[in-house]
Amino acid sequence: MDNIKLANLLFPDVTLTPEDLEVKYPPRELPEGARVTRFAPSPTGYLHIGGLFGALTDVLVAKASKGVSYLRIEDTDKKREIDDGVSAIIKGFDAFGVEFTEGVTGFGTEKGDYGPYTQSQRVFIYHAVAKRLVEEGKAYPCFCTAEELTALREQQETDGAAIRGYFGKYAKCRCLSCEQIEENLAAGKSWVLRFRSEGDENKRITFEDLIRGKIEMPENIIDEVLLKSDGIPTYHFAHVCDDHFMRTTHVIRGEEWLSSVPKHIAMFKACGYKVPKYVHTAQVMKLDDETGDKRKLSKRKDPEAAVSYFVEKGFPREAVIEYLLTLLNSNFEDWRRANPAADAMDFPFNLKKMGASGCLFDLLKLTDVSKNVISKMKAPDIYARVAAWARDYAPDYYETFTADPAFSTAILNIDREVPKPRKDLAKWDEVPAYLSYFFAEPEIDPRLLPERVSRADAKAILAAYQPVYDPAEDKDAWFARLKSLCPDLGFCPEVKAYKQNPEAYKGHVGDVSSVVRLAVTGRTNTPDLCTIMQLLGRERVLTRLQAAAAVF
Ligand code: GLU
Repeated sequence: MDNIKLANLLFPDVTLTPEDLEVKYPPRELPEGARVTRFAPSPTGYLHIGGLFGALTDVLVAKASKGVSYLRIEDTDKKREIDDGVSAIIKGFDAFGVEFTEGVTGFGTEKGDYGPYTQSQRVFIYHAVAKRLVEEGKAYPCFCTAEELTALREQQETDGAAIRGYFGKYAKCRCLSCEQIEENLAAGKSWVLRFRSEGDENKRITFEDLIRGKIEMPENIIDEVLLKSDGIPTYHFAHVCDDHFMRTTHVIRGEEWLSSVPKHIAMFKACGYKVPKYVHTAQVMKLDDETGDKRKLSKRKDPEAAVSYFVEKGFPREAVIEYLLTLLNSNFEDWRRANPAADAMDFPFNLKKMGASGCLFDLLKLTDVSKNVISKMKAPDIYARVAAWARDYAPDYYETFTADPAFSTAILNIDREVPKPRKDLAKWDEVPAYLSYFFAEPEIDPRLLPERVSRADAKAILAAYQPVYDPAEDKDAWFARLKSLCPDLGFCPEVKAYKQNPEAYKGHVGDVSSVVRLAVTGRTNTPDLCTIMQLLGRERVLTRLQAAAAVF
């Protein structure tokens, strides 16, 4: 058969050649060892936490090697696509400070010289390569209908064929003559373009996965579809063309693609392209609440599978990134200890330190990491972040919180500029409840009084305190004042002395301050009470002391 004639029949309008593309997309000029990575999601309008994992890996691997990372949108599967499925993905990356060097930057926008970075706009590239494969006899049109393909599957079942798919004797269209093809085309029959596999089912290929080491698999013998009947490529073919012409050095992708590698290597070789390095990353897992078993984080069952969950809850991006890096790279924690103040994005990411088995995503651990991260933040920074979070996710609270920025910042600063700041907050959606007593009168529950303090004692404590309370007193004077009330009330001013002789007292000064704390805040545990009272001011404190006394 005349392959050149066939190629012209199938692609009459394609004049662009792979050589033209080599010129248009030349090898990148990068320093020795620089890695070119890509993150390639479908525009589903949803960014899975596993996607953030992958993208973070891409960006850090490129950055650590002075290379390039880019975002490519893989929109060849129309079933998985939604109208603007790109913005949510970009928004997810923006929220976590994950920045690619090149690629899609928004719905309809992109940067970089190796574009377009959206597959549906790259059809001219796939067709140029496809035409060349036909010219070289490495691809052929297949006119099999859906019914014929079903019949083929059934036949393979009956035969008990070990390998299923379009290959060898089952590949009817593999040997069509040019005349038959011409006839079919003239009859307007729809066709897909198939890869003419040269694989041998008795042979195996080996390749190196940078995480998993040497892998051996049977050669591919399937005549995979390269172009669908609408001319759009399959994932497999698009991957090969794109990663070649975008000059990707490292294909980092989910482990679900591992079994496709023989196919991809065969295609890279058929096209005459260098096979990139492969890195198949482990799935993100969780412990199932009900069964206790490890399972994949599921879009359907687990709200925390979506990156947007962490934005809505108000986890600081540094905390999420920090936690992901502890999961992703076994040497991150050592690096962090040696570089406590460094930006996580400067971590020298090492692919070899990635685990091959699924990593367990644990919300409680993230919460701990986040408390730590927030404890090191400055109050004005927290104020800005809470305000930004509230504007989007708690508009009513936004009004309250931002009405007096200096006040809100000051309350966030209590016990912050100290050697061991408190670790109360893990995410911004906890702030409204955490700070509630600063913005509204607290509800007082007398059951929260310390065990040693009766309601009558509590009343007596507040009655004694009200007339002597002085908002101008500093911490020491404030505490000395509470101590001074103790003897008359039957409490011991010194905790130590109380412990030596507990029978002699009702309680100690700590119990007295707990009563004041409960009256002023409704809580048994707060940051420094003296500062809280200074910020609330005399009027509000006195009102609260009186109101609580009436409840006790
Ligand atoms: N578009 C593919 C996916 O969404 C990407 C696989 C790859 O990174 O090569 O799974």
